[in-house]
Amino acid sequence: MSTAVVLFTQDLRLHDNPALHAARTRADQVVPLFVRDPAVDRAGFAAPNRQAFLADALADLDRALRAAGSRLVLRHGDPAEQTARLATECGADTVHANAGVSAFATRREHALRRALGERLHLHDGALTVVPPGRVTPAGRDHYAVFTPYHRAWQQAVRRTVLPAPRTLTTPDGPAGDPLPTAPAGTSPGLPPGGESAARRRLRTWDPTPYADLHDDLAADATSRLSPYLHFGCLSATEVLHHAARSDTPGAAALIRQLAWRDFHHQVLAARPDTAHHDYRPRPYAWYDDEHELRAWREGRTGYPIIDAAMRQLAHEGWMHNRARLLTASFLTKTLRHDWRPGADHFLSLLVDGDVANNQLNWQWAAGTGTDTRPNRVLNPLRQADRYDPDGTYVRRWLPELADVPGRAVHRPWDLAHRPADYPAPLLPPDALTARMHETA
Ligand code: FAD
Repeated sequence: MSTAVVLFTQDLRLHDNPALHAARTRADQVVPLFVRDPAVDRAGFAAPNRQAFLADALADLDRALRAAGSRLVLRHGDPAEQTARLATECGADTVHANAGVSAFATRREHALRRALGERLHLHDGALTVVPPGRVTPAGRDHYAVFTPYHRAWQQAVRRTVLPAPRTLTTPDGPAGDPLPTAPAGTSPGLPPGGESAARRRLRTWDPTPYADLHDDLAADATSRLSPYLHFGCLSATEVLHHAARSDTPGAAALIRQLAWRDFHHQVLAARPDTAHHDYRPRPYAWYDDEHELRAWREGRTGYPIIDAAMRQLAHEGWMHNRARLLTASFLTKTLRHDWRPGADHFLSLLVDGDVANNQLNWQWAAGTGTDTRPNRVLNPLRQADRYDPDGTYVRRWLPELADVPGRAVHRPWDLAHRPADYPAPLLPPDALTARMHETA
């Protein structure tokens, strides 16, 4: 009787899981494993919000496995060592895992290969719709510009969605540690983690208004699937197939965002250094001012649209994409701060915090990344008028300004009675681009 271990990583789901599907179809018995790697904590990546989401996701995965006749074995330690040990304990001939793209994932996969040799089966195509490196421009290992990547991505062959196994046979014996619980200090408005919640969201979210309203901050019309995609509670391939069925402009716009996700993943896979270093170094001196950085982090810059977004991040562990662009541009282009402390702050709170999407979007906003117009600056006031035209988003997140009507809320310095508990702007509004010119 053959036995396979399935090592779950960023793929905490039963549906459309290539590693699980291969193990189930090729072996008689399957042992599902998740290893909590202390190196993730040491690297500072285990933010409380993501740990809470992970705890939900693992509990949900264990429930789903039990319903199929199996269970999740949880171990702590080095993933390669723990996986090899479990494979020996249960006499497994093979280990299946889905491939990742980060430097962290690559190191883990090399260690697994060293420990397991030919017994390791790595599957690509679980994390993204099109695996990194599958489409490339002539003579290069990745696309540096989104538009040609998107064209090639649309032509790429897509795999079909794999079914969830209805039943699994798991040998008695291999013991695991207790499943983790949520830590203290999480944001109060976190979404529930796990594949069940992800599938509910996918079923109930209506993409119709997305085409027109995805940039409208108050409408909150985006899918909010990002944490489920980050932890792999849902596969990007399944989201794409689900959206493609509806054939509406909203679904097409959502599919384009999945291409952005793949685009950043293929950049990171080819250039793992961009998690920490500029993709395209720029000859700027960054400002270094702890007071400004603290005001930005705390949502007290005196620019309501920026502060509302930063308060949403603190409360929900999530922020609207337009708000992420505005706050990142404000820190890096307006205040001229290095993108790294901004990206670190996002990663300390985002429940969808993801090295590929966070670092490379930050670099895009800072002008050190793949933006073909790296000098563009988003004016927070013009953006506020455009994407929060009657100020609803700002009033939702800033109680100090809750009584200010209409779009006047975007310019509290012009009010006859300025709210006493709301700060004056860090930079005077007429000097918004001055620092940029000073340092360019
Ligand atoms: P939707 O608009 O419904 O889009 C559907 C999915 O497409 C998202 O769930 C996401 O997986 C993907 N997607 C959408 N926009 C982008 C984009 N610009 N780049 C890559 N993928 C995208 N996304 C993360 O998942 N993790 C991060 O850590 C992250 N950090 C970001 C930091 C900055 C400075 C910026 C500007 C963007 C960041 N994004 C990040 C991308 C984007 O803001 C979020 O994916 C999106 O807001 C999540 O909300 P949603 O699921 O409702 O998105």
